[in-house]
Amino acid sequence: MTLDDLPPLREQLGAHGLLARKSFGQHFLLDLNVTRKIARLASPLEGRAVIEVGPGPGGLTRALVEAGAMVSAVEKDARFLPLLGDLAARADGRLVVVEADALKVEEAELLARHAPGLPAQVVSNLPYNVGAPLLVKWLRQARRFERLTLMFQKEVAERIAARPGSEAYGRLGVLSQAVAEVQIVMNLPARAFTPPPKVESAVAQLTPRPDGPEPALLAALERVTQAAFGQRRKMLRSSLKSLGGEALCQAAGIDADLRAEAVPVAGFLDLARLSLRGG
Ligand code: SAM
Repeated sequence: MTLDDLPPLREQLGAHGLLARKSFGQHFLLDLNVTRKIARLASPLEGRAVIEVGPGPGGLTRALVEAGAMVSAVEKDARFLPLLGDLAARADGRLVVVEADALKVEEAELLARHAPGLPAQVVSNLPYNVGAPLLVKWLRQARRFERLTLMFQKEVAERIAARPGSEAYGRLGVLSQAVAEVQIVMNLPARAFTPPPKVESAVAQLTPRPDGPEPALLAALERVTQAAFGQRRKMLRSSLKSLGGEALCQAAGIDADLRAEAVPVAGFLDLARLSLRGG
């Protein structure tokens, strides 16, 4: 039995009587040319541990296994387990499927159990309703990962990669770029998915920086960006009041009359570092 014996994805969905559920953010990639392209963006995958969230019918999963990865696939919708079991049976020990909510999964434990000692990546076509919280969860443990290659709705991918001064620039961009090098590596139109979503999609790739912030600094950065962008129309002296306001900005050499969107990532890191010292 090999992966090549498997019927086309659309046929498999029909054979298992599976229809997409909106509540699970299900928009499937059924064209293996597309899923192989995403796997190539994450390459090399040979000898890598890959966590995939939401394998669904398994189009991306097939491509990841083909590329030589040891895949731990986390799927919340139990209806897909029999179909994914067919895939696992042909994957030569390179696929483990876990039925779980990815927001609650312990990645360290998953990797230690299924692929100990291998360099780890996350590659996923994410459910759009939980894409941002999952990314923040992974940013908090970014050193674990060599790279993250993630499909989001385009507007979220643009927020992740946004530069200061743009409307899309906010908390998600500052946290992502403080932790990782960020690049948008692929755009996909809605019609590439079954069923098509209302919006376009894009793949963001994050490569964690070796000198990324320690957990305490990242937590402080989360607090500072929450306060600053929570009231993004206000000047920093006012939005950051509870964290030190004008004195904090002055210590960081940042004009307290600025609004959050004008402050570069390095400026937010300075504010976060100083807010730790003050507290
Ligand atoms: N990877 C498949 C593909 O590209 O065709 C499916 C992608 S679909 C956008 C998102 C998948 O994530 C669905 O299979 C859905 O059931 C699953 N999912 C949704 N919420 C989840 C969660 N909290 N934890 C794990 N999987 C989830």
